[in-house]
Amino acid sequence: MVKIVDGSVGEGGGQVLRYAISTSALLGEDLRIYNIRAKRRPPGLRPQHITAIKAVAEVCGGTVEGLRIGSSSIVFKPSKPRAGRYFFDTGTAGSVSLVLQSLLPVLCFADGPCEVEISGGTNNPLAPPVDYIQEVLIPALRRMGVHVEVTLVKRGFYPRGHGLVRVRSEPVKQLQPIKALDAEVRQIEVYAYSCNLPDHIVRRMAGTAETLLRKAGYTDILVRTEALGQQDPKNALDPGTGILILARLSNGLSMGFDALGERGVPAEEVARRTIDEALHQLSTGAPIDKHLADQLIIWMALASGESTIRTSTLTSHTSTGIEVVGSLTGAKFTVSELGGFGVKIGCQGVGFSFRLLSNS
Ligand code: ATP
Repeated sequence: MVKIVDGSVGEGGGQVLRYAISTSALLGEDLRIYNIRAKRRPPGLRPQHITAIKAVAEVCGGTVEGLRIGSSSIVFKPSKPRAGRYFFDTGTAGSVSLVLQSLLPVLCFADGPCEVEISGGTNNPLAPPVDYIQEVLIPALRRMGVHVEVTLVKRGFYPRGHGLVRVRSEPVKQLQPIKALDAEVRQIEVYAYSCNLPDHIVRRMAGTAETLLRKAGYTDILVRTEALGQQDPKNALDPGTGILILARLSNGLSMGFDALGERGVPAEEVARRTIDEALHQLSTGAPIDKHLADQLIIWMALASGESTIRTSTLTSHTSTGIEVVGSLTGAKFTVSELGGFGVKIGCQGVGFSFRLLSNS
């Protein structure tokens, strides 16, 4: 049976495609997706999405029709995820993190360990920086039983990209549900990084963030700055800078708030915007940031049993993820608005496992 997904539902962006393709690869169900990225300009497939689809297809031995830039419809026929060594390249500064978003669930259910290298942009606008994947997403996935390590070998910024990320995964039989309703902030970490730019930028960015956090009453603050230059092997080809604020929580997980520096926007302003976002989230007491919420949806659906998380706001990425993944997997989601205390998301996961699938 071919599952059919309308790529214009909800957010109507790349996330619908990524969720649909990973789910189909795991469930072993053929997929036709049309209206791909219908709500983005330009619509259709971009290089980053093509790399993500190719990566999933290669790991699960699948075939794809309609794979070209601008294509609004593809047919994907998966086989089963296989262990191995893989290399994927977005060819541009296309986001490595977004390729990883589609690939990680597939890698984790391969029939053995995988080692993957992905080349592209490691710090892109409107995508999780690789640092966020390492510090926020992976620890949450480890809580669910996932064994994966992500190493940043080299940063890649727009326009030339060419960053490099290495991923090692061990197979998992079944995922455990995640519970994250309440947690206290133990420490806040401020991390400002740059490549090929004067050192004062990261110092000003980190300094502003620390001052604003102290003003808001936080005292346990760890500040790290990293300004890479040409002699550093991790240095990017192009100049770039960014900030990541990590709230280290009493439940062992972290929330992340991040922004990239922009030409014409002072470093202080980049820090201020990021801190505003962090303080808004922290005021709700919810222990899952709004980006992690949408990134956990597929994992909650696949897990065995009931996951419950509390996040600050229900973004359209999260509600779209719930709609797409819920209908493809049969996982049951519930969403409860808690006024000033954020939103609670519950999910009765399907307990996905190849063992169960082959027995059924
Ligand atoms: P499109 O290609 O359609 O423009 P996209 O492929 O870039 O879209 P989206 O559908 O917009 O992808 O999804 C972006 C993903 O990146 C979401 O999972 C979102 O949570 C995540 N994300 C965006 N910005 C950040 C950020 N600053 N920090 C962490 N995660 C982020």
